[in-house]
Amino acid sequence: MGNEYSATAFTIMNSMVSSSYRAVSRAVKAGEMIRPVVCSRCGKISASIEGHHARYDRPLSVQWVCHSCHKKIHIAIKKEFRRGTAI
Ligand SMILES: [Zn+2]
Ligand SMILES: [Zn+2]
Repeated sequence: MGNEYSATAFTIMNSMVSSSYRAVSRAVKAGEMIRPVVCSRCGKISASIEGHHARYDRPLSVQWVCHSCHKKIHIAIKKEFRRGTAI
């Protein structure tokens, strides 16, 4: 035990991700946003297109991508993060 928990930039980013995600799901439910069926990155048609937030300061500015592209985007972001460059 005795693990110290500190608010790193990464945990701050994660809390921004979940609040942005909530804003989008609310907008989709309210009919203010339409979830597309085509990935904007690879063009694949998928029933489970996910919203990726390119800009966390703009909660409703999302990039719609398929699950595999979304994973790739986040792997790239993590790499950038380790190098200490801005997202
Ligand atoms: Zn894709
Ligand atoms: Zn994402």
